[in-house]
Amino acid sequence: MGTLLQDSGLEDGNPGELWNLENPDAIRAAHTSYAEAGARILTTNTFGGTRPRLDMHGLGDRLHEVNQRAAEIARSVADEHGLLVAGDLGPTGELLAPLGTMTPEDAQGFYADQLRGLVAGGIDLVLVETLSDLGEADAAIAAAREVAPDLPIVVTMSFDTNLRTMMGVRPGDAVTHLAAAGADAVGANCGRGPEEMEVIAAEMVAARPDGLLLVAQSNAGLPQVVGDHFEYDATADDMAAHASRLAGIGVDLVGGCCGSTPTHIAAIGSELTSA
Ligand SMILES: [Zn+2]
Repeated sequence: MGTLLQDSGLEDGNPGELWNLENPDAIRAAHTSYAEAGARILTTNTFGGTRPRLDMHGLGDRLHEVNQRAAEIARSVADEHGLLVAGDLGPTGELLAPLGTMTPEDAQGFYADQLRGLVAGGIDLVLVETLSDLGEADAAIAAAREVAPDLPIVVTMSFDTNLRTMMGVRPGDAVTHLAAAGADAVGANCGRGPEEMEVIAAEMVAARPDGLLLVAQSNAGLPQVVGDHFEYDATADDMAAHASRLAGIGVDLVGGCCGSTPTHIAAIGSELTSA
């Protein structure tokens, strides 16, 4: 989503979430591109939709509206194509104590507020992504249990620092902890590209308890400066081959993160459905 919005003219430093209200046609067009590429789950444009992150842009008082509208836009495209909608939660934007001042109750409250908007807009599942801190993940799971007890919960962390999260969490420990905390699916997203993702996924597979689904959504490689912008260096064919290897080791849900365009998703989809 972020990749397509930047291509559509969203400027660096501006919140993509504002477009749910002010440029909904661009959000709808991005969802439609992924739906037509064969995606089976659409992710709402709400990665930065918590109170602290919206407050940075003076949008905190429109939190419910931003999140509800985002879910409604994704819902309408998903219904046209028979797809699911994942309500997207990113990091809160604050650090838990003792590194920061946020309490677990604060974090749960931030996520619960965001989820009330997403649920009102009609999501099918909760997707918590790009987390580094297991405490923040626990707060998101507790918020989902509070606000949307019937919806499945997917939690993915970003292992971008020597195969650990920024807070030092290892893939296998994330799987064990988050499965026990009540996530239905656990995995990794973002990171440093397909090769590292496959190492991370193998560690997750080794730690998987019975019944837990595993998820991997890699960036399309690493960003390279090309002229006045960034391009990611994994091609659609690279991501398709990567998806095939992930499926081969037992990953259940495969997608893409930064730099993954509808072209990448189409290649992943055709690879996985032909296998
Ligand atoms: Zn990413």
